[in-house]
Amino acid sequence: MRVPVIAANWKMNSTIDEAVALVREMRPRLDEIDNVDIIICPPFISLAAVRELIRGSSIKLGAQNLYFEERGAYTGEISPLMLADLCEFVIIGHSERRLYFNETGEIINKKTRAALKAGLKPILCIGESLTENEAGRTEEIVTGQLQSSLAGIKELDGLIIAYEPIWAIGSGRAASGGQANETIGLIRHNIAALYHDKIARDIRILYGGSVAAANAVEFIRQPEIDGALVGGACLKPGEFFSIVQRTSELRQ
Ligand code: PEP
Repeated sequence: MRVPVIAANWKMNSTIDEAVALVREMRPRLDEIDNVDIIICPPFISLAAVRELIRGSSIKLGAQNLYFEERGAYTGEISPLMLADLCEFVIIGHSERRLYFNETGEIINKKTRAALKAGLKPILCIGESLTENEAGRTEEIVTGQLQSSLAGIKELDGLIIAYEPIWAIGSGRAASGGQANETIGLIRHNIAALYHDKIARDIRILYGGSVAAANAVEFIRQPEIDGALVGGACLKPGEFFSIVQRTSELRQ
């Protein structure tokens, strides 16, 4: 049985004080849940503070990005080695980074390799645009992104995949559970072809895109879907807790 994951992508939201307040409010209820891996990904500047606040709890910590070099003259960047001291997970290949920061498949591959080398577990995001979806190219796009992101990588070591159709992110227009399940099944099939059946059976693949308390169950109950990567709803403590709680109840 794959342990479900609910990961929170805070994006570029919260000062350190706000992050501390949010985690103080969330922790007591999240601590009651013991059958879901809960991963919080605040902005870089809050990682150290949040790490202290979740000490002794089962909540896990992730970053939202990293650079692929270990050190050097890369002003403003954060290296895998720096993050490995702070957190366990790192989001890589989010569509906002592909779109606004021109991250290509090659860059995402370098980041994924660098994260794994440093002992970080990537949450690798892939997903098609609306135009690609409407043109019936979802399978081709998602397969291509998976292959380029994982090129030359032999061991996946805890890597999580998040299938996030771009048109569903922040739009309030989520995919249907059936659609997401089908694409995630395809991703799992590709992992089996690239690696091994057992790796495909064990790897956790999440859905992301306008997940909220009201629709979380539709995704979590699908056999191929192992949880959600949550954006907007994860900044509302009650809403986020409901998503985690519903996931927990479904997997009892
Ligand atoms: C995301 O940014 O990864 C995301 C899924 O956002 P939202 O839940 O707001 O669609």
